Amino acid sequence: MALVVQKYGGTSVGAPDRIQNVARRVLETQRAGNSVVVVVSAMSGVTDNLIKLARQVSTAPTDREMDVLLSTGEQTTIALTAMAINEMGGKAISVTGAQAGIITDGIHTKAKIANISPRQIRKYLNDGFICIVAGFQGQTLQGQITTLGRGGSDLTAIAIAAAIKADNCEIYTDVDGIYTCDPRIVPEARKIDVIAYDELLEMASSGSKVMQSRSVEFAKKFKVPFEVRSSFNTNRGTIVKEETPGLENVVVRGVSVERNQAKVTIPNVPDRPGAASRIFTALSDAHVVIDVIVQNVSIAGSTDISFTMNRDELEKIGHTLDGILKEIGAGALVKQDGIAKLSVVGIGMRSHSGVAARLFEALGKGGVNIQMISTSEIKIAVIIEEAKIVEAANLAHEAFGLAKA
Ligand code: ADP
Ligand code: ASP
Ligand code: MG
Repeated sequence: MALVVQKYGGTSVGAPDRIQNVARRVLETQRAGNSVVVVVSAMSGVTDNLIKLARQVSTAPTDREMDVLLSTGEQTTIALTAMAINEMGGKAISVTGAQAGIITDGIHTKAKIANISPRQIRKYLNDGFICIVAGFQGQTLQGQITTLGRGGSDLTAIAIAAAIKADNCEIYTDVDGIYTCDPRIVPEARKIDVIAYDELLEMASSGSKVMQSRSVEFAKKFKVPFEVRSSFNTNRGTIVKEETPGLENVVVRGVSVERNQAKVTIPNVPDRPGAASRIFTALSDAHVVIDVIVQNVSIAGSTDISFTMNRDELEKIGHTLDGILKEIGAGALVKQDGIAKLSVVGIGMRSHSGVAARLFEALGKGGVNIQMISTSEIKIAVIIEEAKIVEAANLAHEAFGLAKA
């Protein structure tokens, strides 16, 4: 008898008939002789609607109240899923994040899991229940409700799988697995059979929102292999696991796209120790998350610094930096939105050369101008005009031969 954790995302529980579909699948898994813990998301659109509601009554709701509000989405789904299973003659019980023993830090809206005591889940499983756990939520040691950041139900599933030492962890979603690129952007994208944690982590943190990046980080840290697959069919999905030597044979595993980026350039930054530190310490103190940073070679004692971030952060930049730029004698900020990031990812890049050249050639031939370049051991990313991102993703996908056979 295996211990199985299954997670169903928002689309998979998006309507009553979909919840009944989940209930049937879960029951089949139990009737095949397994113990089952199910993690569910809010029904699709519910979390976004709750955020909109909050904005209608408050311009600046506190993060604590946002967590109390947002956690209700998942709480609705656990009750409905348990009811559907019970209606079909099964034995299910709903469990909130707190009841599941998920203890987090106190950073509301993006809390980190500090500890899980799965005693209650174990007891329910021993009593023959299917446990339906609310994704995305936990509680502090002081009893405050917290949430784990957007897409956080993935993290709940992986963390519970680690805590109860599950034999299998299955993430059910609305695509057949992890694809070489988001199939909504590149229709020829192909399902990947096996991917290393590091590759999915790079993809997830550069825009492929098929899994929450923190959940992949957690899976890597605690060595939790998992499978991403569809809740609408029984096809095998994508196995995500530790790297094995064979995985390095593929140079580029996938292409990621991140829209809604913005770029800021600071001209004439004096080329002296401490200038960059003043700028980026101020941004960090203002909690602005910076992505790609490029500094030019210095000419006549000054240099230009450009960096990118999410477009929503752009407004904060002016208030944060204006004073400091005057103080250090730099030029005025030049802000630009309407840009996006394209990344190609693969652990094979460690042992193969020529990846950057191939990407740049494909983009050049397609008339896509590269504004910035950033690389890691297993990723090459370029910043380009947002209007060209779909075309660029398709060009990159084609250049690395990732399309369906
Ligand atoms: P869930 O609600 O099940 O958590 P998400 O909407 O969070 O599902 O993630 C699934 C979506 O991720 C897919 O519908 C797809 O459009 C998108 N996606 C982005 N990148 C990829 C990729 N590389 N492979 C598969 N899906 C991707
Ligand atoms: N409901 C949450 C969100 O929409 C968590 C999740 O679906 O994973 O972000
Ligand atoms: Mg998701």
